[in-house]
Amino acid sequence: MSGALALYIHWPFCKSKCPYCDFNSHVRATIDEARWRKALLTELDRVAAETGGRRLTSIFFGGGTPSLMAPETVAALLERASGRWSFADDIEVTLEANPNSVEAARFAALAAAGVNRLSLGVQALDDRALRFLGRGHDAAEALAAIGLARKHFRRFSFDLIYARPEQTPAAWQDELDRALALAGDHLSLYQLTIEPGTAFATAASRGDLALPDDEEQGAAYEMTEQRLAAAGLAAYEISNYARPGGESRHNLAYWRYADYAGIGPGAHGRLTLGSAKIATRRKRAPESWIAAVEAEGDGSEERVPLSPEERGREMLMMGLRLAEGIDRARFASETGMTLEAALDDEQLPLLVAGGFIVLDGAGLRATSAGRQRLNAVLARLLA
Ligand code: SF4
Repeated sequence: MSGALALYIHWPFCKSKCPYCDFNSHVRATIDEARWRKALLTELDRVAAETGGRRLTSIFFGGGTPSLMAPETVAALLERASGRWSFADDIEVTLEANPNSVEAARFAALAAAGVNRLSLGVQALDDRALRFLGRGHDAAEALAAIGLARKHFRRFSFDLIYARPEQTPAAWQDELDRALALAGDHLSLYQLTIEPGTAFATAASRGDLALPDDEEQGAAYEMTEQRLAAAGLAAYEISNYARPGGESRHNLAYWRYADYAGIGPGAHGRLTLGSAKIATRRKRAPESWIAAVEAEGDGSEERVPLSPEERGREMLMMGLRLAEGIDRARFASETGMTLEAALDDEQLPLLVAGGFIVLDGAGLRATSAGRQRLNAVLARLLA
């Protein structure tokens, strides 16, 4: 797998911080974009120096809110990347965008810069829910942005958050049906979770916010999967649904444990260099990252080789998110171990008998029931 490479570029800034968000996103009064462009180009050059002979299969601008980047910055990064690596003929270039009208006005320019897939953070199609989620757009803007995404990009996806407090099953079903009528080749549907350190976590600890219970969440998940399947979008990952061929190739690189490089604050990478697999992590705070890049050409915080056992654990944690699971031969070539050797031999038959995982000649995969409770399944399998 060392020939193909995916590239992630992190833009860490947002206009405001959403109360559920634990991403590496920051609000700053001013951003010196020329300085940021130069630093990202510098780090791109650094990564290219050790991976330059490879074929780039995808590029993903994530954040933060990369649709706040000037299209010229996106164009400059794509142009530099095309000079440093060879591009696959069908390279996927995704950019995450927010649907507010100022950002949507840039879609044409972003497409002209080389972005060919848009991932829109719609989150809800209902104004009250959008206010609850602290979003800077309303439902009308979301619909307009979806229309523009369809017009300017060959492929687009949008995200919704469900299992929200006070969202009835009937209301979610109605929202889902409206989403399906608007969808392109891909949808990301996330259950609301309360992450430590967020404003929602503070509200929950005060008793001001409560999520639906496990049973309600499970029922919502199953209903979602069934409705999407009936509409022709298969659940290829826990929260991601696609028509055949519409899967996010970039995210598949993570889940299939292929090589990816990450640049920008907090970005992670996994690079096969010789016989080693190296985990890379950039400095998380934007100011620390840019200072390090300007001083040393590289914002690295950590660069560690992974042992075969660590590779195996990571591959299981990522691959079991996918409906296709983990290929037996690929696991062996990545880790030098059989799947059986990496799994808890007491728990394995219990999880198979319980209908949570399947282990056969092709490999290991989680069933829909297993993917719904993946953290619990992994805790037992990797004990
Ligand atoms: S826009 Fe996205 S990255 Fe930014 S704070 Fe909201 S959820 Fe987080």
